[in-house]
Formats: sequence, structure tokens, C-alpha cells
Amino acid sequence: MKDNKPALTKASDSKQKYRSVHSSLNTVFTLSFSIVLVLSAIVALIAYDRLAAFEELLDDTTATSFPKVMSYAKMYSQVNELTYATDSLTIANTQGQRRIAFDDLKAKISAIRPLVTEFDNAQRSLIQLDVIAQEIEALNALIDEQLSIGDLLNKRRQAVYRIHDIAIHDEELAHSDFAHTVSRLVIMAEEGLSFKRLNRIKNTSRIITKFYNHSIETLNFEDSQKLLLSDLYEGLVGDDGAMAMKIQSLRILGRTRGRADFVRNLVIDYARFAEYESFKYKGTVLEDIKDFSETVDAQTKTLGSAVIFTFGVIIIIVFYIQRRVIRRLVLLNKKVVSRLAGDAIDLKVGGKDEITAIAKSFEEFAQTIERQKQELLKSSLTDGLTNIANRRGLDKAFKNLLLSAQRQQWPISILMMDIDNFKTYNDHYGHVAGDECLQKIASALTSVMRRPEDFVARYGGEEFVCLLPNTPLKGAQIVADSIIEQLELDSIPHERSDVAKHVTLSIGIAVYTSEKEETSDSLLKLADTALYRAKKHGKNRYSN
Ligand code: GH3
Ligand code: MG
Ligand code: MG
Repeated sequence: MKDNKPALTKASDSKQKYRSVHSSLNTVFTLSFSIVLVLSAIVALIAYDRLAAFEELLDDTTATSFPKVMSYAKMYSQVNELTYATDSLTIANTQGQRRIAFDDLKAKISAIRPLVTEFDNAQRSLIQLDVIAQEIEALNALIDEQLSIGDLLNKRRQAVYRIHDIAIHDEELAHSDFAHTVSRLVIMAEEGLSFKRLNRIKNTSRIITKFYNHSIETLNFEDSQKLLLSDLYEGLVGDDGAMAMKIQSLRILGRTRGRADFVRNLVIDYARFAEYESFKYKGTVLEDIKDFSETVDAQTKTLGSAVIFTFGVIIIIVFYIQRRVIRRLVLLNKKVVSRLAGDAIDLKVGGKDEITAIAKSFEEFAQTIERQKQELLKSSLTDGLTNIANRRGLDKAFKNLLLSAQRQQWPISILMMDIDNFKTYNDHYGHVAGDECLQKIASALTSVMRRPEDFVARYGGEEFVCLLPNTPLKGAQIVADSIIEQLELDSIPHERSDVAKHVTLSIGIAVYTSEKEETSDSLLKLADTALYRAKKHGKNRYSN
């Protein structure tokens, strides 16, 4: 019971030590897993962010950029077609052709308009398109006017030819001055109408006027002829005459050409603008994609670096845990196994954490078990009643002493003792008194022993054995006398003894000498035989 107190104190001490652990593994693990968790979260977030951005660009490209690029391309091709359609309008020879070409142009402009509204410069482009539409409208009006005048001029010419036909085909008039004058006028007018330059036409008109006036003045025409000539003259050079119409037609033609060129240039400019815008937008989209792909590339590298860094940290943590935890646990286990096998190894591991605390607890545990083992061993070799060595203790000590005696060439004296008339002592004083008597005898024997290496044991019942190392027979006889004297001095009363008034004992002495090969059993047997002799010779004595 006494031993429990320090054990408890030790346990509370170790609790104290555990509490004062400096660098706790708990902190190490929590920190390590937190770092790994945070790094993994960062990597996952970067990856997610990149994927989201990539998806956004892909959506933007497929939903906006590509269709816009297509619209630009479509507009470019339509504006190009506008050029050809304008040419078709310009070269229209009939009202039918003009109407078809104009309707075609209107349809094309209508088709371009919604495409333009999607563009970055929509406002400007729409204004330009409106200008083109207005110019085409004006061009169409001019061409319409030109074609109408062409029709009127044809009608005038037909009227002139009718008069000419009358003059030529009439037999009476044929070869007359009248027919001659009509023919000259028609020929001169045809020549004039074939000119493309205004001053030549005007000049021809003047010549025709001169010829007409001269013919009227110099030649004798009938009144009806004069009237026909006057109509013819008016139809040719009058205000609404063929020559005037030709002049007007040429003027309109000039304007038409100018306008057509202008419209053509406008359309070509617009087509170039559309082409430029289309290329510009394509370029912007390509630039955006390139920029993004570079960004994605850079971020992929960053992500890769983050992943490698995280792996590095995990490897360092695993390496650290391997060194700091696993290796030390393996070392501790090895030490515990060695200690169990009986090696005197200190169960210490370095550091100031839970493993150190466990090692300390193991050390204390091992020490407690070893102490208890020693106590158990001791109690198994001790007699419970007399508190001196028992039969097993004697055997053990005897074997060791014999080995030393053999090595050192010592003698050993063996004293075998038996209390005289102990049966009657028990009968008379009772068993409890008998036990007390045995304790007193054991004390007496111990007090007589002079050397620390002298050994006393209870052999069994009321028999005792003394082992006296390095003691020859003579010394043993002295010790035997001392024992008998001591009991005389102690004088434990024994009324029923047939030897004395006090408790006595008989002693058998055997001596081991290194010359003879003897065992502990044979020596004890020898001592027992000597004891028997002592009893036989009257007890309370020794025999050898
Ligand atoms: P002797 O003089 O011839 O030795 O006679 P004895 O009466 O001593 O005879 P014996 O040796 O045969 O008797 C041993 C007695 O010792 C028997 C038993 O009553 C007693 N005894 C043995 N062990 C104990 C013990 O532990 N306690 C007590 N009280 N008595 C014991
Ligand atoms: Mg006996
Ligand atoms: Mg006896």
C-alpha cells in the first residue's frame, strides 16, 4: 500500500508533463492539413475561374463574335453586288430594264440595312447607306428622264420621216425643189443628230436654219409646201424639235454619267468601308482570341505551378510526418520490444511532443512493472511467517554460493537445525504460540550470524538451515555453539521439553570443500544425517 502513493504522484507528474508538451503533434497535423486544404482550395478556385472565363469566351465567340463576323462578310458581299446592280441601272436601255435594276437595288439596300445596324459604326454607316439610296433614286430619275426624252426624239424623227416620205414618194413632187429641200434638211438633221457634241449640233441647227431661210427666199414653193417645210423645220430645229431634244438628251446623258460615276464611287467606297470594317472586326476577334489564349496559357502555367507547389508542400509534410512521427514511433517500438526482451534500454525519444510524453509514460510503466517483478521475486523467496528466506530462497542462494565457492576454492559450512520437542510445545502452548516461537528462533538465528554473507533460511516446519560461506568446520562449530548459547539466553519457556526448561534445538553440520564434487541436495542430506546424530545423542547439541 505504501508503494501506491509515489506511483500516484508519478502519474500526476506525467500528466503535468503531457500538459506542458511544447510542440504538439496535434498542432502539426492541424496546421499541415489546413495548409493542404487551403492550397487545394486555391488550386480548385483558380481552375474553376479559368474554366468559367474560357467558357465565357467560347460563348461570346460562338454567340456574338462569329455571327458578327458572318454579318460583316455578308454585308461586304452584298455591298459588292450593289456595284453591279448600279451598273445594270446605268446601262438600262428600256424602262423595263431600268425598273428591274432599280427594284433590285432597292431590295439590296433593304437587305444591307439590318446588317449595318449591328456594327460598331452603325450610325455613320446608315447615313452613308441613306445617301447611296438617295443618289440611286436621283440616278434612277435621270435615267427615267433620259429614256423618256429618247422616246420623244424617236417620235419626232418618225414625224420628220413621214414628211420626207411624202416628198419623195409623191411622183409630182419627186425631183422638185421641194423634194430636194426636204431631203437636204433630213440629211443635214440626221448628220446633226449623229453628233455627240453640243456645239456641232448647234452649228448644224444654224446651217439648217440658214438653208431653210435661203430656200424659202430663193425658191418658189407652193403655200402647202411652205407649210410642210415650216412644220418640218419646226420639227427639226424648233424649241421642241429633234435637235433641241437631242441637245437635252445629251445634257441629261452627261448628268446621268456624272451621277452614275458618283453613285458608283459612293458604292465602291461603301464596299471598301464594309471590307475594312469586316477585316477590322475579324482582326479584333482574332486579337481577342489571341490575347485570351495567351492569358489562358499564362494562367495554365500559374495553375501548373500552384499544383506543383501543392504537391511539393504535401511531399514536405509527408516527409516531415515520416521523420517527426513515424520514425520516432518505430524507434520507440524497437526500444519497448528490447526492454521487454530484458535489455536495459532507456525508453527515451527526442523532442517535446506527445510521442515524448508516450515514451516517458512507457518508461514509468516499465519501471513500475520491473519494481513489482522484483517485489514478487523477493516475496516468492521469503518465508511469510519468519520473514527470512524460504526453501526456494535457500536453493537459489545455495547454488550461487556453491558457484562462488568453486571459483574461490572456499569451504561452505551447512548447519541443519530442528527444534527439539516442538510437537509437545504446540500441544502445550498452542499453534499460535508455536508460530511466535518459530519467529523468535528465526530472529535469534539471524542475530547470531556475524558476516553479511552468512545466510539463514527456514527449511520447512520447525527446521532451519544456515549457510556459512568461506567457513570451515571449526568456524561452523563456533557458530553452532553460539546458537545454542543464544537460545539459552533467550530462554523461551518449554515446560514439556525433555531436554531443558527452555526451547532448544539440535544442529547437524556438513562442510563443503572444493575438492569433492557435491551438490546442494547431497550436502543438505549430509547435514540432515548429522542432525539425526545430534538428536540421537540427546538433542540441544550439534553433531558433524
Ligand atoms: P524432536 O525433538 O524429535 O524433533 O521431536 P518433535 O516434537 O520436534 O518432532 P517432529 O520434528 O516430528 O515434530 C514437528 C512438529 O513441529 C510437528 C508440528 O506440530 C510442528 N510444526 C511444524 N511446523 C509448524 C509450524 O509452522 N507452526 C507450528 N506452530 N508448529 C509446527
Ligand atoms: Mg522436525
Ligand atoms: Mg523437532
